[in-house]
Amino acid sequence: AALLKKDEVDIKGGWKVGQPVPYAALAKTFSLIEATTKRLEKNAILTAFLLLVIQRSAKDDHKSLLQAVYLCINRLSPDYVGIELGIGESLLIKAIAESTGRSLAVIKADLKKEGDLGLVAMNSKNSQKTLFKPKPLTLPFVFTQLKDIALTTGNASQAKKVALRANFALERRAICTGFSRTAAVLAERERADKKWSQDKLTARLEEGAEIMKAVYSELPSYDSVVPALLEGGIKGLRERCKLTPGIPLKPMLAKPTKAIGEVLDRFENKRFTCEYKYDGERAQIHRLDDGTVGVFSRNSEDMSKKYPDLVDQLSKCIKKNTKSFVLDSEAVAIDRTTGKLMPFQELSRRKRKDVKVEDIQVRVCIFAFDLLYLNGEPLINKPLVERRDLLRKHFQVVPGEFDFAKSSDGESTDEIQTFLEESVKDGCEGLMVKMLESDASNYEPSRRSVNWLKLKKDYLAGVGDSLDLVVVGAYYGKGKRTNYYGAFLLACYDADSEEYQTICKIGTGFSDEALQTHYETLKPLEQTKPRGDIKIGGAKPDIWFEPKVVWEVLTADLSLSPIYTAAQGLVEERGISLRFPRFIRVRDDKDADDATAPEQIAEMYERQSLAQAGSKKKGGDD
Ligand code: ATP
Repeated sequence: AALLKKDEVDIKGGWKVGQPVPYAALAKTFSLIEATTKRLEKNAILTAFLLLVIQRSAKDDHKSLLQAVYLCINRLSPDYVGIELGIGESLLIKAIAESTGRSLAVIKADLKKEGDLGLVAMNSKNSQKTLFKPKPLTLPFVFTQLKDIALTTGNASQAKKVALRANFALERRAICTGFSRTAAVLAERERADKKWSQDKLTARLEEGAEIMKAVYSELPSYDSVVPALLEGGIKGLRERCKLTPGIPLKPMLAKPTKAIGEVLDRFENKRFTCEYKYDGERAQIHRLDDGTVGVFSRNSEDMSKKYPDLVDQLSKCIKKNTKSFVLDSEAVAIDRTTGKLMPFQELSRRKRKDVKVEDIQVRVCIFAFDLLYLNGEPLINKPLVERRDLLRKHFQVVPGEFDFAKSSDGESTDEIQTFLEESVKDGCEGLMVKMLESDASNYEPSRRSVNWLKLKKDYLAGVGDSLDLVVVGAYYGKGKRTNYYGAFLLACYDADSEEYQTICKIGTGFSDEALQTHYETLKPLEQTKPRGDIKIGGAKPDIWFEPKVVWEVLTADLSLSPIYTAAQGLVEERGISLRFPRFIRVRDDKDADDATAPEQIAEMYERQSLAQAGSKKKGGDD
């Protein structure tokens, strides 16, 4: 509480009730957050700031809090709207030069020395002589300007972007997710009214954060949630903010299993179903009451421009009584003449943007496996068996274009084994095994749930699941590869501490062309200093990247490591590293924070140790 008071004073400055939020208050909040490594303190500072935004805004002002929340997470709109600021380091350098009258060379030299463009901007501004003191910036002004810049395209956009003032040299890192704290802020305000005890307050804050998390995974749009929160408080928020067609929800994910026996242990005495695990791209398909269709990727990106053909296909498979809906499905490349499914690599040959139906070479078939919303009603809290019935009643198969995921509700090991082999023969990756009845079979947005297990053919061969890792650094190549990176530093992501933990260096198996392509993708993300949320350990790459690009990687096995920080403290004090990592593909459909979690890595390590102990024991017995 003491900290909150002190920070409040720091942040407040001369900010008066009813005035627009001063941009300086946000900047002060960021620098206070940056100055501490303690999560609780970061939370307290952010809480103080958001609380001030609420208290100092007019009663019907919903925008200030919304804009503040967006700037705190380094975004300007929900993910699915796809507004990106698109400002890289070189553009910022130009903007700083132009707005402060310093030369590019001086700024670049300064950057080399300081290693942080924010500091360079500040130095440049401080050394600038001004006749008039500029009017202080407000948060709504900065937000609108940034959005304006992001929305401007074409030649005008570059010019406009350069005109960006050094004042806006926002640090590009997302400082903190302020989201669940918003709930805390509101609960705090309620406390002032009711004078709760500390215990009760803590419980309420936790409950509030839980509600906000649940609501946000179903309706991931601050545009909808923040005004609803301000209007009616946290109470009843779940009822007021429900799944809405047009706003993609965070998909439910599965846990890996290594053996059929594990599946049977998990689902003992419960009804479950096995479905083909198709090797395509997840497609969440939304249809609004007015007939508009939207297709969203696994990470909520709008893919309607990639799949214009799906809209046409869908119209054929909808039955008469089906109006609005949200389908969960896999879009799979298919040879329409033979009806054979093709691997993901075929699908990845499709263009991502501005696809014209007449140019499409690689056709897709939609395999629907879940129905999350139907005719005005969310279904996620109904058991899978009911959702599946509704799915089958309201849609119809159109060969080669739309089908239901092939399933078998059989229960014995033999039946599962046969179905698994069949799935592989039909060009799938294996099976998804899902709880069928009771609350445990409800759809759990954004959860990697034990109620969905994936059984891939690879696991059975003992290779284990692949990992999705973020490229955080690179090492320059040698010999004829000196012009681009020759090896890369990868990291997993811990959502609890919001940090990237280094896991391995990967450098073998890349062709010259592949290295060239990776260079082109990664070069714009180069940073002279590692970002504050990368837990480096002993890794020493030549260059750092803003964590953005995700790669799928296979490994021969995992080992404890004194250098890397992945999963430190989960199995042992040392971290875990990958031995002989092998690049499989770029995961465009995953964001950096979707990367494999340290818990999953610890689980893989422990399974491997168990398996090794098992096989040693077997060897001994022989
Ligand atoms: P993976 O590398 O296995 O695709 P992931 O992290 O993308 O991993 P998982 O939860 O591990 O996601 O596996 C589920 C993915 O499998 C879904 O995202 C979906 O794209 C795909 N999939 C294919 N068939 C099905 C199905 N019948 N039910 C659910 N998901 C399916």
